[in-house]
Amino acid sequence: MSSAARSGNATAAIPSSAPVAAREHLSGPVSICIDRPLLALDRPFTYDLPEALGAGVGSLVQVPFHGRQIRAWVLGPTEDVPERMLAVRKLVSRIRSFDERSLALYRRMSERYVAPLATVIGRAVPPRVASEELERRPAHPRQGVPEGLGTSLGTPVVGDYRNGPRLLESLRAGSGAFVVRPGPADEASVAVGCVGAAIAGGRTAVVLVPDADPIPATAAAIADAFGDDAVLFLGGDRRARYRTWLDIAAGRFRVVVGTRPAVFAPLADLGLIYVHREGHAQHRDERSPSYHVRDVARMRADLEGAVSVLSAFCPSLEATVPDHVAVEPAGRPWAPVEVIKPGPEGRSPRLIRALRSASRAFLFEPVRGYGVARVCRSCGEPAACASCFGLLRLERGSIRCVVCEAPGRCASCGRIDFGVVRRGAERVEEWARGIASVPVSLVGRDDPPRAPHEREVLVGGVDALKDFGSLGLDLVGILNADASLRRPGVNARERALVTWFEAAAWARPDGRVIVQTNTSNDPAVQALVSGRPERFHRSEAPHRAEAGFPVGAPVFRVVGGPSLEHELGALAHRTLLSSVVGGATICLVALDPEQVPGFGGAIRRLAAGGVVTRVEAEPHL
Ligand SMILES: [Zn+2]
Ligand SMILES: [Zn+2]
Repeated sequence: MSSAARSGNATAAIPSSAPVAAREHLSGPVSICIDRPLLALDRPFTYDLPEALGAGVGSLVQVPFHGRQIRAWVLGPTEDVPERMLAVRKLVSRIRSFDERSLALYRRMSERYVAPLATVIGRAVPPRVASEELERRPAHPRQGVPEGLGTSLGTPVVGDYRNGPRLLESLRAGSGAFVVRPGPADEASVAVGCVGAAIAGGRTAVVLVPDADPIPATAAAIADAFGDDAVLFLGGDRRARYRTWLDIAAGRFRVVVGTRPAVFAPLADLGLIYVHREGHAQHRDERSPSYHVRDVARMRADLEGAVSVLSAFCPSLEATVPDHVAVEPAGRPWAPVEVIKPGPEGRSPRLIRALRSASRAFLFEPVRGYGVARVCRSCGEPAACASCFGLLRLERGSIRCVVCEAPGRCASCGRIDFGVVRRGAERVEEWARGIASVPVSLVGRDDPPRAPHEREVLVGGVDALKDFGSLGLDLVGILNADASLRRPGVNARERALVTWFEAAAWARPDGRVIVQTNTSNDPAVQALVSGRPERFHRSEAPHRAEAGFPVGAPVFRVVGGPSLEHELGALAHRTLLSSVVGGATICLVALDPEQVPGFGGAIRRLAAGGVVTRVEAEPHL
């Protein structure tokens, strides 16, 4: 490594070890993307690129912009040359941030999510740690097919699934969109089998998991099966993440397993993007461009001729509405599901009997705490938070408002003595202790999630349901199913069903799943009983369309000035809802997919004119 290269003077030769570096050098007029995440400035600018810089597509450079020096990325040569053209001042890094292929994905995302290209690049490429670029070990890109992978663990499992052979064939040499519903015991082996098939075809694979801690059993199984060929790209500090990214770009791995940002992993010869538990909330980025990994996976697979696999015990409507091939077990691998009425505090006689004889079980209770305050014992008024009139909940021995978290104080008289109706996970733990013949524990929201021990009954809510692999429990009780179905939000019912399937997957095939509900005919409950979500999907899709937000229709939440509703109303759209909050106009807009480019162009103009201040794609509804 020469000091000249270190200072950014690119007359120095780029060592062959440099990742993403041995690429074509450009010179003359180039279009660049300035590193400013503003829609109003979201367009290419033309600069003159001196040949001596050794820069090209994806190079991070410094350019003069309105009298200041700012960072920018080189996008490529351009014929759009203005009369007066400034020169790129210097090369900031010899590492190329992206290539043409990645840029095509970023551009598509920028258009789809109406987000500045600079914002998309900022999400896709990890923050640079300059010292990591120095003195890197020479890369040894992995080539050829490793021994024995054609018959790797898991291939027989997915090969026996309906449409499994077609999936394996596409993984070796083809492309396409697949939705896989693994059997409850097969979740990890199906993923391993898919990755193995892609690698056997001489290709690479990205596997996306929703969380890093605890490491999902599926991620661990892949790391195990592929050894040095695989890398975990999850968690870690800034330096470790940048180092791993550089290693991936240098071709050191065939398999990348990671959370959201791994969807951009700079792997060549991509054969597979696999999204594990595709409906999980963590697969969506809450920051701009607020993308969902599921959609980006499909975009990228489409651009690079790879296979996308969305995997879930119960796939989301968003996964199943676009064209895809469904892959699932030929038989029914699920434990039978019994539906009964809840009984007092959720203690139905049948659940009590099952709990008494179970040695390893999980009780899913979606409501936290020990109970809710119903009435003030001092003044007799209905209980409500003195600060915000919110619901008051008893949890871990103290009463607090569920909305503002203020200590519980009566809204009418200010006193703190309430009559409490007992319900929630803490209360379930208490009564289950009196019934079970093994120890009972509660995994609360702040406890680290874990699987039940041998000889233990575990009580927990949504946060407890992580991928711990196939657990084979005697009994899974799904309590308070009606509370899950009543949650607000257009996706609430689907979320409830996905959660139930994840809980039911912990039961062994000849174990028991008991669901307590007063609405046994609800399509969500019936989907769990039948082990098939199709009928639920068919009943749910019209509700979403009726609400004005059909599945697959891009939705945007736009914030701006008083003329916003009028301006957006003039654009082609499907649904437009408007409200004024604290002086700002907020519009919810649903579009047909083909209306998005025109909408995005108009939004960028409105942003430049000050009418639009903020855009969020796919907001929570
Ligand atoms: Zn409150
Ligand atoms: Zn009172």
